[in-house]
Formats: sequence, structure tokens, C-alpha cells
Amino acid sequence: MKKIQMVDLKSQYDKIKDAVNTSIQEVLDTNTYINGPQVHQFQKNLEEYLDVKHVIPCANGTDALQITMMGLGLKPGDEVITADFTFAATVEVIALLQLTPVLVDVDLVNMNISIEAIKRAITPKTKAIVPVHLFGRAANMDAIMAIAKENNLYVIEDNAQAIGANYTFADRSKKKVGIIGHVGATSFFPSKNLGCYGDGGAIFTNDDALAHTIRGIVNHGMYERYHHDVVGVNSRLDSIQAGVLNAKLPNLDQYNLARREAASKYNAAFEGNKNIITPAFDSNGDDHVFHQYVLRIIDADRDALMQHLLGKGIPCAIYYPIPLHSQKAYVDVRYKEEDFPVTNRLVKEVIALPMHTELDDEQIQFITDSVLEFLK
Ligand SMILES: *Cc1c(COP(=O)(O)O)cnc(C)c1O
Repeated sequence: MKKIQMVDLKSQYDKIKDAVNTSIQEVLDTNTYINGPQVHQFQKNLEEYLDVKHVIPCANGTDALQITMMGLGLKPGDEVITADFTFAATVEVIALLQLTPVLVDVDLVNMNISIEAIKRAITPKTKAIVPVHLFGRAANMDAIMAIAKENNLYVIEDNAQAIGANYTFADRSKKKVGIIGHVGATSFFPSKNLGCYGDGGAIFTNDDALAHTIRGIVNHGMYERYHHDVVGVNSRLDSIQAGVLNAKLPNLDQYNLARREAASKYNAAFEGNKNIITPAFDSNGDDHVFHQYVLRIIDADRDALMQHLLGKGIPCAIYYPIPLHSQKAYVDVRYKEEDFPVTNRLVKEVIALPMHTELDDEQIQFITDSVLEFLK
């Protein structure tokens, strides 16, 4: 059996080596390392793929979130609501810009931001909601957009884990996640569903004026060479990374399908086990692109299961072990433990199994057998 890895980028690369190497070689041959034609091409390719008017590439997903908030003109003291159960980047940029993070609880079933908790958290100072499509599953955008409209708030989608997922609205129409809110931000960190071979990120919007503002911010606040109209940053996607992404984007749908197929096989093997709650998803739908495959373990020792799997050479991980409201950097007297029953529970129950585009049946069988051997 091939060695099981949490993410297997090498096997994936072996299959697309020619396309990737050709793309990188082109950059080397033309010496256009910064803002080369590959970057503009990738912008066009991604605009077409997502069906959005503007893609603004940048240096990483954290920058994408920060620049988005700068572009929207959010000011110190403005409150921004986001999920307590996610990667820290989201809350980090809110705090860095001296906006006020308002962490709220998540939903037990889809692990995304809780609609009821958003409603309770809104005050006259609230300016934006940042739903994170966690682990690759779309948040409840019908409800979030309705709340935003009613309260005149921006919606910034943190799409770092869900690129390529579709959201099906209540009226059955579909859109790619990331282009439903006012702005979307994503990451091309190597292990993300669309990853480059270094750091990368992008911002998406259909708003022409906002796109213009953001294009200046990523480039030192310049709209005309050496005229700095606003305080900006330096945040660029390298030409080499854009070349890698141009080679990989045509495979994204197939990559996401491979992830969903692996998730279906995991779910089928675990069905009926009283200690395992599998991620719910519509196997015919595409609202979940499984950036991570995360189980909840109930009435059993999750940490001992983890040790059992690690002992058999099966990598696994806890995403995320500590709620953001309990992190030293983000503790706040406003937060009460009873406001976060779901996050506080999930951090003790979740375990992520290997998930990538190259998992084979033999590996999945070994992983599921090993889990079930412990939870028989
Ligand atoms: C990865 C990630 C980010 C940050 O992306 P980087 O490119 O690593 O800066 C932000 N939000 C979420 C939810 C992520 O998973």
C-alpha cells in the first residue's frame, strides 16, 4: 500500500508534471517574475471559472481578507461578526485593522456560523459578517444574505477552504461560493483545494468600484504610478505561482469530485456506527468539496482514537483544538462560555482523516478498518 498522507501533493504533481513544468519554464524564459502575463491570464481564467466580474490576485489568503476589509473602508470600532470555530486568519485581520471581532457560535450539523448567533450578535456598530465555508462546505448563504440585507451589512466570504463548491439557493438556483456575498477571499496555500507551490490568494467581487479600490490597495495604494491615494500594502501573486495555478485550475472540478468520492466511501464505511457522526452532504450535490473530512466522535475517547491511528501510520489531525474565543490573543470580557456551547463541544469531538485527491480504495479501506477496529 502506498504510504498514507494527510495531503499527497507529490502524487498529484506527478500526474500534471508536464503542464506545471511548462508553465514554470515559461516564466523563467521570459523573466517576468512579478506581474507577468501568467498573473493576468490566471485572473481571467478564475473570473471565467467562478463567473464573477473581478478577481484580484494577491499574496495569500490572509492578505485577501485584510485587503478586503480595507477596501470596504471598515474603520476602528466597527464590529465584524465571524465564526468561533475556524482558522485564526479570519479573526486576526479583523483585530489587526483595529476593528472589533465579534466571535459567534457555530451550527452543530454543518459546523458553519450559526444563523441564530449572528442575529443575536448584531448591534448598531455591526458592519460586516464573515462566514467561513468551513472544511469545504458552503455556509447557509440564503439566511446570511437576508440578515445582511435587512441590517445593511457587508458579507465577506472566507472561501479559503471551499473553492469550486456550489451553493444551491432556496429557489434551486446555484452559484459558486465566494461570489455570493459582496466580496470573497481565498487562499492558494499548497494544501488548499486549488493550491499553488508557495503562497497565493485572491479576492473576488462583482462590484466595479470596490474592485478598483482593491486593485490600488494591493499595489501600495497606487492608482497612477507614484501617486499614492490611499494607504495600501504590497501583496502580489508571483508569476510562477500564477503559472502553477493556470496549469491546475482546469483540474479543480475533477479534484473536488475525487474528494467527494473519497468522502462518500468513508461515510459508507462508517454508517451505523454509534460513536461516529459523519459529515452530512448530498452525494449528488456539490455544496461540499471536502477540504477536510471531519468526523465527530461521541461517547468514545477521541484522543485515544487519534493515538491508535497514528500508531498504525495513519495521519490524522484536530481542526481546530481550541475555540478562537479561548485563544490568548482574542479573549475578551464580552465572551461568556455559555455563548459557545457548540464550538466548545466540537473542539472535543472532531477528528480529521486523510483527505486529498489521490486517496485510493486500499488506503481508504485500511483507514476505515482501523477506525472501526477501535470503535467496534
Ligand atoms: C488557509 C486559510 C486562510 C489563510 O490563508 P493563507 O493563504 O494561509 O494566508 C484563511 N481562512 C481560512 C478559513 C483558511 O483555511
